[in-house]
Amino acid sequence: MPPAVPARRPGLTHGPAAIDRPTVSFELFPPRTPEATAQLWTTVQRLAAVRPDFISVTYGASGSTRATTRELVRRLLAETSVLPIAHLTCVGATRSELVTVIEEFLDEGVRTFLALRGDPPVGAADWRPHPGGLSRASELVELLREVEAARCGSSASQALRGAAHKLSVAVAAFPTGHPGPGSPAERRGRDLQALLAKQRAGADFAITQVFFDPATYTDLLRDARALGITIPILAGVIPTTDPGRLLRVEELTGVPVPADLLARLLAADDEDERRRVGLRASIDVANAVLDAGAPGLHVYTFNRHRDALALVEGTGLCDAAPDGPSDPIARPHDLEPQGAP
Ligand code: FAD
Repeated sequence: MPPAVPARRPGLTHGPAAIDRPTVSFELFPPRTPEATAQLWTTVQRLAAVRPDFISVTYGASGSTRATTRELVRRLLAETSVLPIAHLTCVGATRSELVTVIEEFLDEGVRTFLALRGDPPVGAADWRPHPGGLSRASELVELLREVEAARCGSSASQALRGAAHKLSVAVAAFPTGHPGPGSPAERRGRDLQALLAKQRAGADFAITQVFFDPATYTDLLRDARALGITIPILAGVIPTTDPGRLLRVEELTGVPVPADLLARLLAADDEDERRRVGLRASIDVANAVLDAGAPGLHVYTFNRHRDALALVEGTGLCDAAPDGPSDPIARPHDLEPQGAP
């Protein structure tokens, strides 16, 4: 039997108005050096060329990237047509310092945020809120709403701007559970309560942590809906092409990389074969969650466009970037589904 060819989905290149196509978005982190800035801008242009729904920009631990996150978000606003989302965390800041940071972003024209608690600093045993700071992401969602309401209340013009261009707040969700004490079931219960609290505080949608098993995403979706969580939960996916990077992700997020995937990547004869194996695995995960009702894909790019675009291309959600050739390793027809004879 010939390998099954994934059905084509209405893709990004069918235009932003394409009816009911899943969303596609990307995550970037702010560059650390001038060389990295130049390189990143090439990546931004290649990602922007497929007309994603948004690009999110991470916020370093302890607010360490406050200036560089803001600069990248400002450039995305000024020099591309892509909607930027600014990540923001509660780490290392008092409430009033957070108000200042939020005001700075709003002054730049940012209207969409990803509100996070953030992780404890490296070496710290557990999470402690900064003195005078916030304890949970739900409190940051509330603060964003409060700051916006105060601005809108300050003048009729601000009220009109706020009404015309509404503030939107995203939050995090965890298919394999947020690391912490207790059994997986206890952690799942806590995470769902946290997500519900974030929705009640005014979150508009959620983006998931990386996961490798599509069932963990669909279980999260089912349990969230059963609890009355109605906001869209966007699937965060990762191109699983680089074993070293996957291990680093495991270390940072606590999400274990499947041993068989790691073994197959390490056994690959060369770089092309490794990409073929890795992309096949991530495209399968992406297709499975889209088929199960995920509203879209949020691709963790690690500031590299090639594999991120190949992953999206492999799901049929975009053709090659207009300024580059189709990636031969990503063409759905060239990739046999895993387990095919
Ligand atoms: P919270 O929602 O506050 O949850 C933290 C813990 O408290 C969880 O264990 C939760 O179960 C528990 N909890 C919270 N509220 C309740 C409640 N009402 N009832 C019971 N338990 C509760 N980190 C960065 O530093 N910078 C970034 O840019 C960044 N981007 C990220 C993007 C995505 C898409 C994701 C998924 C994570 C990102 N992170 C980032 C990591 C994130 O900051 C950490 O995972 C952090 O430990 C948890 O953040 P949170 O917003 O989910 O916190």
